[in-house]
Amino acid sequence: MTHLELDGVTKIFGDPNKDGVVAVNDLDIDVPDGDFLVLLGPSGCGKTTTLRMIGGLEEPSEGEVRFDDTVVNDVKARNRDIAMVFQDFALYPHMTVSENLGFGLRREDNGMDDDDIEARVTETAEMLEIESLLNNKPAQLSGGQKQRVALGRAIIREPRLFLFDEPLANLDAQLRKTMRTEIDELQSEVGITSAYVTHNQEEAMTIADKIAVLDAGELQQLGTPDQVFNEPANLFVAQFVGSPDMNLFDATLTETADAYGIEMDGASFDLPKRLVDAEITTDEVLVGFRPQDFYQTRRRALDGPEFDADVRVVEPVGTEAVVHGDSAPGDVTAKVGGFHDISSGERLSLTIAPEHVYLFDAETEELLK
Ligand code: ATP
Repeated sequence: MTHLELDGVTKIFGDPNKDGVVAVNDLDIDVPDGDFLVLLGPSGCGKTTTLRMIGGLEEPSEGEVRFDDTVVNDVKARNRDIAMVFQDFALYPHMTVSENLGFGLRREDNGMDDDDIEARVTETAEMLEIESLLNNKPAQLSGGQKQRVALGRAIIREPRLFLFDEPLANLDAQLRKTMRTEIDELQSEVGITSAYVTHNQEEAMTIADKIAVLDAGELQQLGTPDQVFNEPANLFVAQFVGSPDMNLFDATLTETADAYGIEMDGASFDLPKRLVDAEITTDEVLVGFRPQDFYQTRRRALDGPEFDADVRVVEPVGTEAVVHGDSAPGDVTAKVGGFHDISSGERLSLTIAPEHVYLFDAETEELLK
C-alpha cells in the first residue's frame, strides 16, 4: 500500500523563459493508502502529464512526487514498482493470455519458480473470469477480454500503485460501464492505491474515491464525487461535472430593508437562507440550476425561483425526459418526470428548491457559500 503525494508539482515543456508550455502548474494532491484518485478534465488540461510524472515517465520541472513520504522524482519508472494500464491494452500479440499474464513475473527477480507463477496466473485469471481464455492469443479476444488481460497483467505483480490512462476509451459504451464497475470492484478488493485519467465525468463519478478536476494545468477542485457535484468550487467544475449541463443565468443581488434577493430576467426570489450570512462582495452573480433539480409548479410549491419555459424539444430518457425550452432568463434545460404529458410548443411553469440554487461570483467565477 502506498500513500501518494504531489507537492507543488509543475511541468513545463520546452524553454520556460521562451515559449515553454506549462502543462501542469503547482499541483498539490494527496492520495491516502488504498484510495482511488481520478484525474478529470478536458483534452489538454494536463491529466496524462500528471500521470506520467507519477509513473516516472516524465520528470517534474518543479515540486515533489512522494510515495510514502519518500521523494521519487529521481527514481526511474522501472524501479517505482507501479503497474500501468493504457487504452490500447499493450498486449504481446505472439504470446498467449497465460504468457502475457506471467510475463512480468518471469522477468522479475522475485524468487518465484514456474509453479508459483502458474498458480498466480490461474488465480488472477479466475479473479477476472478469463480462465477459459488462457491459451488464446490476443487476436482471438474481444476488446473487453483484452482489457481484462491488461488489467490482469497489472494486478498480478501486486504493485505499489496502479496507473490507468483512459483504459476504457476504446470500448463501446455498454462495455465501458461494465468494465468500470469491474475496475472499481477489483481495486477495492486488492486495495492498491490508484490514479486514473479520464475526460468522462460520468466514469469519474462512478469510480473515484476522490476526483481532481483540472483545467489548463491547474487544479480546480479535489474532492469526493459528492463534493464536486454538490459543492463545485467554481463555474468550471459546475459546468464540467453533471449531465445535462447546468443552466446558468446572469443575475443581480438586491438588498431591501429586511431581505436580500436575486433578480434575473423574468424571475426574482429570496437569497437562499444558507447564504444570508455569507461574505459576498459582489452584486453581479451567475445563478446555476441543475436540470435534475427542476419541478413543475403544478406538482410542487418549493418557495424558490419560478419561471415559465416554452418547450422546444422533448427527449425521453427512460421514465424521465430532458426538455429544452425558451424562458425569460434564457435557454433552459430541465430533466423532469412524467414527460408523457409534455410536448413541444407547451408552456411549463418550472420551480426549484432554494437549497438547489447555486450562485457564482460573476467575476471570479467562484462558488458563493
Ligand atoms: P488528452 O485528454 O487530450 O490526452 P491531457 O489532459 O492528458 O489531454 P496532456 O497530454 O497532459 O493533457 O497535455 C497537457 C499540455 O501539455 C497540452 O497543452 C499538451 O499539448 C502539452 N504537452 C504534452 N506533452 C508534451 C510534450 N512532450 N511536449 C510539448 N508539449 C506537451
